[in-house]
Amino acid sequence: MSRKLIIAGNWKMNKTAAEGKALVDELKPLVAGVKDCDVVVCPPFTTIAAVVEAAKGSNIKVGAQNIHWEKSGAFTGEISADMLAETGIDYVIVGHSERRQYFGETDATVNKRAIAGINAGLQVILCVGETLQERESGKTVEVLDRQLEVGLTGICSQGIKQVVIAYEPVWAIGTGKTATPEMAEETHAAIRAKLVKIYNTQVAENVRIQYGGSMKADNAEQLAAQKNIDGGLIGGAALKAASFADLIANAVKGAKNK
Ligand code: PEP
Repeated sequence: MSRKLIIAGNWKMNKTAAEGKALVDELKPLVAGVKDCDVVVCPPFTTIAAVVEAAKGSNIKVGAQNIHWEKSGAFTGEISADMLAETGIDYVIVGHSERRQYFGETDATVNKRAIAGINAGLQVILCVGETLQERESGKTVEVLDRQLEVGLTGICSQGIKQVVIAYEPVWAIGTGKTATPEMAEETHAAIRAKLVKIYNTQVAENVRIQYGGSMKADNAEQLAAQKNIDGGLIGGAALKAASFADLIANAVKGAKNK
């Protein structure tokens, strides 16, 4: 089966509305000819409206970086699914390791956020990944299995069609350290094996698994050439239109060599 490549830029807490619009205006012509790849940018909440407007009529889709599971109420600082869906976005990231590390996000809250996104009709990018300590103590697969099992609780084989898994080894995020393509492929294969156990082979074969962690133009081709790597979730290299477009072009090239 061939899964469509997906490259998503996670802008984190970067880019004002004006800066986000400028980036998308520059990116549009650079990726206009890209086929066989979903191109997504995920700006901060306050930049979403400007970016949705700037991306209109292009092949660039927009996502948010978080979502709350309740419809409304006393949840200061949070944003509901309906509020997000109204902005015209298509994607939402849940469970990024920075959310887990700095904002007390747990597998259980990640699951609630994922379900809220699915119910709002959004495509959910669900992040999983082990810390350096967990990898070095041989716990990588155990940690990922738990994150997937809890994170996907209550998401049926229909719901999982709206989910992209982002494998992001915590030790590779923003550090310049990338998992080698072989190391990443091995872990992606373990993730797919877990999806087979949770769902079945047919369902698992259709789920896209992105790699994230210091992915850039230089290593995108090799990473995307791996059988179970279906794209990337990109931090630093997504903040400049040219580097993001180069990365996308190289990933598309790599995916053709699977
Ligand atoms: C990320 O934060 O999702 C990420 C992968 O960051 P970077 O590409 O900068 O490592």
